[in-house]
Amino acid sequence: MGFEFATKCIYGNGKDYDKDKTGAISFPIYQTATYAHPEVGQSTGFDYSRLQNPTRQQVEHVVAALEGGVDALAFSSGMAAITTLMELFRPGDHLITDADLYGGSIRLFNHVSEKNGITFSHIDCAEEDIENYVKDNTKAIFIETPTNPMMSVIDVRKVSEIAKRHGLLLIVDNTFMSPYFQKPFELGADLIIHSGTKFLGGHNDTLSGFIVTNSQELSDKLRFLIKTVGSGLAPFDSWLILRGIKTLPIRMEKAQENAKAIVDYLIKEPKVLKVYYPGIEGTKGYEICKSQASGFGSMLTFEVESRELALHILKSTKLIPFAESLGGTETLLTYPTTQTHADVPEEVRIKIGITDRVLRLSAGIEDKQDLIADLKQAFSSFKKDI
Ligand SMILES: *Cc1c(COP(=O)(O)O)cnc(C)c1O
Repeated sequence: MGFEFATKCIYGNGKDYDKDKTGAISFPIYQTATYAHPEVGQSTGFDYSRLQNPTRQQVEHVVAALEGGVDALAFSSGMAAITTLMELFRPGDHLITDADLYGGSIRLFNHVSEKNGITFSHIDCAEEDIENYVKDNTKAIFIETPTNPMMSVIDVRKVSEIAKRHGLLLIVDNTFMSPYFQKPFELGADLIIHSGTKFLGGHNDTLSGFIVTNSQELSDKLRFLIKTVGSGLAPFDSWLILRGIKTLPIRMEKAQENAKAIVDYLIKEPKVLKVYYPGIEGTKGYEICKSQASGFGSMLTFEVESRELALHILKSTKLIPFAESLGGTETLLTYPTTQTHADVPEEVRIKIGITDRVLRLSAGIEDKQDLIADLKQAFSSFKKDI
């Protein structure tokens, strides 16, 4: 259907807007576990909320519309979505993944999927020739772009050509950009993952996850899995995500504006060694990001002079909390070494560039002057510590 993106954020594609007797503008929360059947062999379309619930169905329709997919499935968290996704594979299957992924995905693959007989090649998908790693039993390629936390940009169209040539599924975790800035199906992806906890929900108050499909066959397999493993999103949480998505476009724009202002400040800050942000002109990822996304997002990573300075900043900001997560109204600072990437083996972490001098920042939608003033005072109070 023909709605533009911002309208879809509020109405989805329109067809399931709740037109019940009350005319409620806000989609109702159907807080029910089960549903009465008219008679044997008949159903209202809803039987039991592990299978489906109207509020969950509505958020699924909205997310499917935003990504341009045929279906979306809502899960209790991003990790619940990825864990259910892995049930598409069998013992003996092999997957190629980027080495620089969300730490929880790496933990799942290394500690759960491998135990279940699935093997992985964790490679640098931005630099290495992926084709060298394709084996007879390879089934899929799993990437994020920009990567977390080093913000390297992977050319999704190029990866999709390789996936198509070898009959592999291309799975893209689109959490960092959200469908507002990047639409992986248009670049050749087969499945899209979201941690809805981040930009979609957008308020640092609810966990959720999504798998978006663009084929009925994959959708049927995943619908079988969600009802079997029981990892679907609860009605109230579905409603919170529906509400969050309504403001996705204005939040994405404002957070990106703040991120750009913070990047400009950090580049000039003498105690910062390097800033990683795809929107910095002249960097490797810039042109690729420009060719496949309509913005650069609001996630950035920076390396400071020393571990001591990194630790000082984390305890000295007065406005910006030191907390895991991203994509919400509040700007957050994260220390990947001990937080998101604590379970990644140290040698792998260092190789990717996640040293103990690296901080990740998710820009929120506060006033940028306050954010920069807070970072400035944290940097300038460092000397006093020694
Ligand atoms: C947070 C995150 C996840 C995991 O999602 P949860 O909702 O925390 O379970 C997966 N991928 C990326 C890129 C993330 O940032």
